Amino acid sequence: MPGALSWLDGALAGLSAKGLRRALEPLDGAQGPVVSVGGRALVNLCSNDYLGLAADPRLVAAAVAAAQREGAGAGAARLVAGDLPVHGQLERRLASFKHAEAALLFSSGYHANAGIPAALADREDAIFSDRLNHASLIDGCRLSLAKTHRYPHGDVDALARLLRGTPARRKLVVTDAVFGMDGDAAPLAAIAGLCRDEGAMLYVDEAHATGVLGPTGAGWAEAEGIRPDVLMGTLGKALGSFGAFAAGSANLCEWLTSRARTFIFTTALPPAACGAALAALDVLAAEPDRRARVARLAARMKEGLAALGFDVSRVVAPIFPVVLGEEAVALEASRRMRERGFLVRAIRPPTVPAGTSRLRVSLTAGHTEAQVDAFLAALREVVAGLRRC
Ligand code: PMP
Repeated sequence: MPGALSWLDGALAGLSAKGLRRALEPLDGAQGPVVSVGGRALVNLCSNDYLGLAADPRLVAAAVAAAQREGAGAGAARLVAGDLPVHGQLERRLASFKHAEAALLFSSGYHANAGIPAALADREDAIFSDRLNHASLIDGCRLSLAKTHRYPHGDVDALARLLRGTPARRKLVVTDAVFGMDGDAAPLAAIAGLCRDEGAMLYVDEAHATGVLGPTGAGWAEAEGIRPDVLMGTLGKALGSFGAFAAGSANLCEWLTSRARTFIFTTALPPAACGAALAALDVLAAEPDRRARVARLAARMKEGLAALGFDVSRVVAPIFPVVLGEEAVALEASRRMRERGFLVRAIRPPTVPAGTSRLRVSLTAGHTEAQVDAFLAALREVVAGLRRC
């Protein structure tokens, strides 16, 4: 008798045929600018470890120390018995880092995005969401039960028309600060002004901006000089650890503590993750040159990619879309880049819109100018080869 999951054989074959089947590929060891995969050293151009902190010995030592002090696991949800000293300590640091009154930890950026919109908007309300927002925000909008209106990417005029033309009890605008597959940024100052005029709440996801952009590395909102109602940031990218937080008013954090289901119904972050994040905030403040360094490398990459004919004009972060079109072309480009010693992933639908499959190239403070130049030379060859196919 065929098992009830026998339909998966055909479904998986269907994904393979479309170049959409995903497979895990373990690294042999830690994250870094060069990683070992299957015994081969590759220049790693696909991590989000923008400041090169994920394997920094100071973060590792702080993680160990926090675990020794407060345990390997929190043992319960925050509201039950899992609220450990390191949680409050990290929240206070994050609030001051983000120039906010308060902050509240979430288990991951996915949890934050999945749970916060529902705490702020429900059936009687309307959400306005940038068309290219991260999948977790899209899911969070769905979970909220509010009517969600998607606006064209970064289009403030279209957003204004939608906001003005949509009656609702409360309105919530949600946007990524930096778009993780494109490296461009939302026009936050204009969006914040519009939200103020229209009385709408503004939720900004700073996953890729935190630690990277802004005068102190606080993010894109800091760079744009605005204070959104809700600033979401993650600890798993530039901050080299794991977890996420919302920053905003004390009332907001009180409300989320009582109403955000993805905060309430999950185990608190392990002390090690919080200890590492606290150490990352120390490093960030003490070593501003890390941000400057990744910015310099990004400027070099941007210039090189533009010279190869790729449109990277809107890029503000160390993330570059090398858009190639069809899934198969992006996959083949990734394979050929690997042959030349570069780990760079093909990003395909549903992560990006159909027809815009790409290599997503990201840099960290640990890379070198020579690696950027070698990558650009290899990409030139690979792209020329693919155009001849
Ligand atoms: N928001 C954005 C814009 C992201 O890119 C990501 C992760 N790729 C997340 C949220 C989710 O964060 P986390 O990895 O902490 O779950």
